[in-house]
Amino acid sequence: AKPIVAIVGRPNVGKSTFFNQIGKKRVSIVEDFPGVTRDRIYMDAEWLNHQFTMIDTGGIELENDGEGKILASMRQQARLAIEEADVIVFMVDGRTGLTHDDEEIAHILRNTRKPVIVAVNKIDSPKQHMDVFEFYNLGLGDPIGISAANALNVGDLLDEIVKNF
Ligand code: GDP
Ligand code: MG
Repeated sequence: AKPIVAIVGRPNVGKSTFFNQIGKKRVSIVEDFPGVTRDRIYMDAEWLNHQFTMIDTGGIELENDGEGKILASMRQQARLAIEEADVIVFMVDGRTGLTHDDEEIAHILRNTRKPVIVAVNKIDSPKQHMDVFEFYNLGLGDPIGISAANALNVGDLLDEIVKNF
């Protein structure tokens, strides 16, 4: 089976933007976990001859309006990612900066032995590179600054992902 890469992170950090840019083809959902499967989107992807399946776990947030519910849904995303993925991409927003909710997700992700890559999105220009550094505080290794919308550094992130297969 192909390796599975899960994208987790708060609403609006750019998960779907990244996912839609990298993904080539929607794939059918194989397993069914009651209440959550319909919220996940699976996509075939390829980089440097490595084929993999990506999961956008962010769809879970669609059900949730209240603040507490958003946090609960992010915890659920993180747990799903830990359960199913071979590599986890934890996406954060370099414009907003580090938030309490990011720290909550990081707390869950630090409890897995699976590789976690921190992608700091919305680094749209080299001037913003300094905004990447505060995410070292998540304790999940070297954060990689990208701009999903402008396809900047996305190749570096993909290199790091496939290195972990
Ligand atoms: P998701 O909720 O994490 O799936 O985030 P989306 O992919 O829906 O993106 C949320 C918002 O951020 C949208 O308005 C995107 O256009 C915007 N966005 C995504 N990537 C970037 C980026 O690299 N730079 C900037 N400036 N905006 C971005
Ligand atoms: Mg989304």
